Amino acid sequence: MNIALIAHDNKKSEMIDFTIAYSYILKKHKLFATGTTGTRINEATKMDIHLVKSGPLGGDQQIGAMIAENKMDLVIFFRDPLTAQPHEPDIIALMRLCDVYKVPLTTNIGGAEVLIRALESGFFQWREIIHTDDNREGNK
Ligand code: PGA
Repeated sequence: MNIALIAHDNKKSEMIDFTIAYSYILKKHKLFATGTTGTRINEATKMDIHLVKSGPLGGDQQIGAMIAENKMDLVIFFRDPLTAQPHEPDIIALMRLCDVYKVPLTTNIGGAEVLIRALESGFFQWREIIHTDDNREGNK
């Protein structure tokens, strides 16, 4: 599965703790992250992560483009609800695309705990069917 990891500045240490705790699951998947989040996770866990740009510089939109192409299977986004973000429109667009394409999304660690265990238990197999259908229909 392709998994996106994004954390706002006040949530980055929570994201590091989360990825250390669940690296045994995450390392079996293809990981993508916004610039700073991904660099910090890589330093802490040594997992391979495909980095896109930093969120405020367009990284959320790059992840959004992957969602629109049905190339993202899970978005784990630790959002800071108490701090204004300069790229708020990009964040809203990212969440909207998750809804358009029915991509599982969590915006906090509570949801992330549930989704990562669901992933481990095989509850994401329906995403493989979507990828197969996409290939069959020529990704329209
Ligand atoms: P960052 O971007 O990982 O580069 O800090 C995250 C964000 O603020 O959306």
